[in-house]
Amino acid sequence: MNVRHALGEYPVNFVNGIEKLVRSLPEDSVVITDGNVARHYGKLMHNPIVIEPGEGSKSPSAWAELQSSLARRGVSRKTTLVAFGGGVIGDLAGFVAATYMRGIPLIQVPTTLLAMVDSSVGGKVGIDLVEGKNLVGAFYPPKAVVIAPDTLNTLPEREFRNGMAEVWKYAFALDAALIPMLTPRLAAGAPELASIIERCIAIKADVVQEDEFETRGVRAKLNFGHTIGHAIERLTGYGPVLHGEAISAGMVVETRLGEILGMTPKGTAGRVMECLRLEGLPTTSSVLENTDAMIAAMRTDKKASAGKMAFSLLEGIGNCKLVENVEEGAVRAAMSA
Ligand code: ADP
Ligand code: ZN
Repeated sequence: MNVRHALGEYPVNFVNGIEKLVRSLPEDSVVITDGNVARHYGKLMHNPIVIEPGEGSKSPSAWAELQSSLARRGVSRKTTLVAFGGGVIGDLAGFVAATYMRGIPLIQVPTTLLAMVDSSVGGKVGIDLVEGKNLVGAFYPPKAVVIAPDTLNTLPEREFRNGMAEVWKYAFALDAALIPMLTPRLAAGAPELASIIERCIAIKADVVQEDEFETRGVRAKLNFGHTIGHAIERLTGYGPVLHGEAISAGMVVETRLGEILGMTPKGTAGRVMECLRLEGLPTTSSVLENTDAMIAAMRTDKKASAGKMAFSLLEGIGNCKLVENVEEGAVRAAMSA
């Protein structure tokens, strides 16, 4: 599969086995990974740069240290940087590649389900500031995305489910035909998983090809569950509730919101909730009770303009639409239902 972008296109390749994947990387490439990933796969990598696991590493200081590491290693403009890890590594190492010497070739090797189906495709890279998440970054398409689904076998169960939340998002918001493929519950080693990952990437590729720089409202479709989800993450301080867990509760609330607004057929929220519950994902969050703070957080969401709340809402399972300027009363009602 290829993903087109303004300056060309890149392949998303599936490789059977992580050892084979590593052997396929350019010989003089430099790998950036984190401590957990290195514990499992470090012995396959040649002299990797290993950083601390966790969102805290998406920081200006980690970015600056990595730039210096590359300079000290004598990395040239022709060297390929390999972002080998989950979404944190993809965003951070991707932004390092985008900025070192004004940009060096990047290969994304996502090792979490979340990074495979979402963050490694679409070209967004960046870091966080204390003032907010992903405030500094770039659109920087990789030369290739290479996926070995067997790396998921070492992923902790909770991290796997975290990625499944995004998979369900594709099903609910963009592709109802995925649903029968997702029930019964999948595990990391499931044979169907590679084709499900591929299908999610194809959906994402379609969307980002239509709206690469997020200027046309199309990319907002990928944000079903995310207006509420981002607010939950913000209110819980980024950490205790994982991104997928937050959007899982977010998808339930936003489906209910669609029902309240008369846009989503009645009973859809119940169906969404049942699927997520079977997956072992949360369908609510205690911070939803903090309605004032939730509303305040949503008024600064990137889809909001002039403080008006915006949501990608379901027109039915498998279809969604960006709705801007949503009434506060309806949002409060959806949160407290
Ligand atoms: P995400 O991909 O969910 O955005 P992270 O990059 O933080 O977020 O990855 C989630 C966690 O999983 C991190 O602790 C990371 O070190 C760990 N991890 C990533 N890939 C693997 C893997 N294949 N096996 C085991 N742990 C992994
Ligand atoms: Zn997401």
